[in-house]
Amino acid sequence: QLPAVAFLGLGHMGGPMALNLVKAGVRVTGYDVVPEACDAAREAGLEVAGSAQEAVRSADVVLTMFPAGVFVKEAYEGVDGAEGLLAAAPVGATFLDCSTINISEAQEVAQLAHAAGFTAADAPVSGGVVGATAGTLAFMMGAEPEVFERVRPLLEIMGGRVVHCGGNGMGQAAKICNNMILGVSMVAVSEAFVLAERLGLEHQAMYDVVSHASGQCWALTTNCPVPGPVPTSPANNDYEPGFAGALMSKDLTLAATALDETGTEAPMGRLAAELYAQFVKDGQAGTDFSGIITTLREASRK
Ligand code: NAD
Repeated sequence: QLPAVAFLGLGHMGGPMALNLVKAGVRVTGYDVVPEACDAAREAGLEVAGSAQEAVRSADVVLTMFPAGVFVKEAYEGVDGAEGLLAAAPVGATFLDCSTINISEAQEVAQLAHAAGFTAADAPVSGGVVGATAGTLAFMMGAEPEVFERVRPLLEIMGGRVVHCGGNGMGQAAKICNNMILGVSMVAVSEAFVLAERLGLEHQAMYDVVSHASGQCWALTTNCPVPGPVPTSPANNDYEPGFAGALMSKDLTLAATALDETGTEAPMGRLAAELYAQFVKDGQAGTDFSGIITTLREASRK
């Protein structure tokens, strides 16, 4: 018997994730604070409650998929005198947050759940809306082993790969470390292509060498920032995301917070965070993050 799920946050990711649970036979009750998101989910075949409290009343697992940590904390505790999820959920429920949030926030909300007598886990994802729709997300999970085992069947429905990374917050830690590498490596690959252009080295020639040499990485061989060498990369489609600059900037800001909180020296990670913050300020929030090559190219022409 699969656990019954209250699914809160029916946005770009949450909507299709909740539907995959329904298709697999899970009893799901959804809710979103935005009425349009509730309507769209209902039309797609999800049972939607009239309030967050109603959605969680008989849930075994309370799953949240929100834009940021502040929303998770407010939903758990309740705002403006409204009953929070922790007050409304039945005894024995597990709080499972799949949003990407600060590691310290993830540990704080898990602590709140524990203090209220519940089990809790963080399980951020990678794979984007495409992965959410196809049920092929990668889940990175931070929780006690028995909590991991309890929610694993649900994650395996929504995802293709599920990794238990350690205790509370370690799912977020894994996600943030990965995306810090991704941000830095995209900037590095883009810088190398711009230098190649200025040296007179063809994109394809550089790709043919580097993709089989020690500079090989996902930013080059899957999300190649110049059109041509990898026909499916967003560069071939006017940098339509893919993975939008706003989301990369968000994740690098989370990385910068983690660097501050742990006193970690990471000059490249911090610089990538600054470059992507500027990318967003320049109006590129909706551009694929590989579009940073255009900024770098233009800066070189000055
Ligand atoms: P989104 O903004 O489309 O959806 C979030 C939804 O949460 C919204 O519909 C919002 O109304 C709802 N919400 C906020 N507070 C709520 C509350 N208290 N109760 C009920 N609903 C509430 O965002 P998204 O793109 O679906 O992303 C969700 C999370 O997944 C983010 O943390 C994001 O960083 C992460 N993520 C996104 C992607 C992606 O490609 N979009 C990829 C990996 C991870």
